[in-house]
Amino acid sequence: MNILVLPGDGIGPEIVPPTLDVLHAADEAYGLGLDVQIAEIGFASLAREGTTLPQPVLDRIPEVGGVILGPVSHYEYPPREQGGLNPSAELRVRFELFANIRPCRSRPDLSVLRSPMDLVIVRENTEGFYSDRNMFAGSGEFMPDADSAFSIRKITATGSERVARAAFELARGRRRKVTAVHKANVLKLTDGLFLRVVREVAADFPDVELDELIVDAAAAALVRRPDTFDVIVTTNMYGDILSDEAAELSGSLGLGGSLNSGHDVAVAQAQHGSAPDIAGKAVANPTSLILSAAMLLDWRGRRDGHDALVAAAAGVESAVEGVLGDPACRTRDLGGPLGTAEFAAHVVARLRRAA
Ligand code: ATP
Ligand code: MG
Repeated sequence: MNILVLPGDGIGPEIVPPTLDVLHAADEAYGLGLDVQIAEIGFASLAREGTTLPQPVLDRIPEVGGVILGPVSHYEYPPREQGGLNPSAELRVRFELFANIRPCRSRPDLSVLRSPMDLVIVRENTEGFYSDRNMFAGSGEFMPDADSAFSIRKITATGSERVARAAFELARGRRRKVTAVHKANVLKLTDGLFLRVVREVAADFPDVELDELIVDAAAAALVRRPDTFDVIVTTNMYGDILSDEAAELSGSLGLGGSLNSGHDVAVAQAQHGSAPDIAGKAVANPTSLILSAAMLLDWRGRRDGHDALVAAAAGVESAVEGVLGDPACRTRDLGGPLGTAEFAAHVVARLRRAA
């Protein structure tokens, strides 16, 4: 499997190498034949090539089996005309990575929750309330006068249907329940359309239960009764917010794996951002990116019927779980003593022992 790795900004160059160490260990243990190529994006390529997302990188994406994207500090980039493209948003839109899959699971003594959480948030990834993802690309926000600012939100039946199908298919392999999270009581047209389409898709999955919840109630329910969720399907911004909440409830933002998936292309990307406040200190928790990379192996393995990739993904996940189980092996965000590289070394050692 060819993997294109784009390290990104902030803590990206710190969490990518240990993630690759884990992948190489998985490759040795499971015989995956991985071919990893690294290319620059973000500030690194802006300095060298005048753009945060060089065309040769875009050209290679359809040719590889999967992409690992580090976090990007897009909010610090110059304007688009000066080469500042948000690589994360660009890849999601260009390659139609319509489903952002974000599993969150509470782990004994790491989570603050009183009841167990084991859920997957499936977030629509290509439209919604993001100014770079609607029909007025780059200008979805505007100010008609100095006193007023507007933001346009795009919801389509097509976008809603494909993400809903991804959620129901995922639920079939789990506890067979989908919760549609919306605000259709207030945003009657946009969230109303999303909800209507999810209900239509649900009719094709009679074996999966559909529940519906307003987003504010969902935010509260994640804290009070997380065990009632299996798969959550929702629009872009609600999914962004709820998945950070769920990850933090599970123990830390640094724990959540995340895969941007489309029909033919998938991009593993940590759930968190570039964390400039801790960049350069070698203390970032690499778990999120490691688990995201495992999700990529699993996705490719299932699509291509390559069982070793699926087994390797499970192996990586279980090595991470094992290491996280030991308080002496945790990173700072979890109250542990370890830095980024030391933590990953434990995961590598465990993976080798288990194989
Ligand atoms: P974005 O807009 O790109 O999602 P953000 O504003 O949500 O970014 P993050 O970069 O995700 O912000 O950081 C939020 C907080 O979580 C910061 O205090 C950061 O240090 C912490 N954090 C994020 N990722 C990690 C990690 N891998 N390990 C430890 N702490 C992290
Ligand atoms: Mg964020």
